[in-house]
Amino acid sequence: MIDSHCHVGFDELKENIDGYLARAQSQSVQLILTVACHEHQLSDLYTILENYPTIFGAFGVHPQENKQTISIERLKEIVQHPKIIGIGETGFDLFYEPDSFDHQKHNFEIHAQVAQETDLPLIIHSRSADAQTIDLLKNFKDITGVIHCFTGSADFAKKALDLGYYISASGIITFKKSQELRDIFKTIPLDRLLIETDAPYLAPEPYRGQINESVYVSKVLEKLAEIKDISPQELDKITTQNFMNLFKKVREKI
Ligand SMILES: [Zn+2]
Ligand SMILES: [Zn+2]
Repeated sequence: MIDSHCHVGFDELKENIDGYLARAQSQSVQLILTVACHEHQLSDLYTILENYPTIFGAFGVHPQENKQTISIERLKEIVQHPKIIGIGETGFDLFYEPDSFDHQKHNFEIHAQVAQETDLPLIIHSRSADAQTIDLLKNFKDITGVIHCFTGSADFAKKALDLGYYISASGIITFKKSQELRDIFKTIPLDRLLIETDAPYLAPEPYRGQINESVYVSKVLEKLAEIKDISPQELDKITTQNFMNLFKKVREKI
């Protein structure tokens, strides 16, 4: 399995990455993509990427960082790192930050522009912002990426798929109240699905409320396999291949 999105560099996890990785590997999680959300997190990210061959990285200014911005040149320079394979997370969070739309849009456009220029995929965080996300992505042709931790509407999923994006399932699909979301995942083509934890957040059932870890991506896989009515083994193969297809740069390193 691959955990396509987590935050190993965050305070809850970074003190014991050896243990974190050992637990993940014991459940066949072979590869982890860790996301840094602020330039302050870059030195920790570089250390992690240097020390752990099976952990890859992504960088972007998170939409909730409402004071932070970055230049196109600086972002391009950061993502040249050989183990940084994606740009983000970027996007809109109008749930927690409804008042900084213009700032978020400015940052989102910078990330999309760099994705266009570098041919790296975008990792998109979109919360309470279905229409705004689609409107922005429509303006950037020839880029692709993933809607991470998908919680949007059926219409949003369809439009993102039409634009060529992948859709990633998190532990939220295991929650009791998420029937509507499970119904949307039923309709998403197998060749566009990814799985993630978003650790340390969003631990799946039966660990809900605890600190999440990549090892629990198996619970996301199991639930998604149930939704898609195929075996977890088969879905593991498919989502692993999808990850390799989207995050092409990883293939140079493994
Ligand atoms: Zn996010
Ligand atoms: Zn995240």
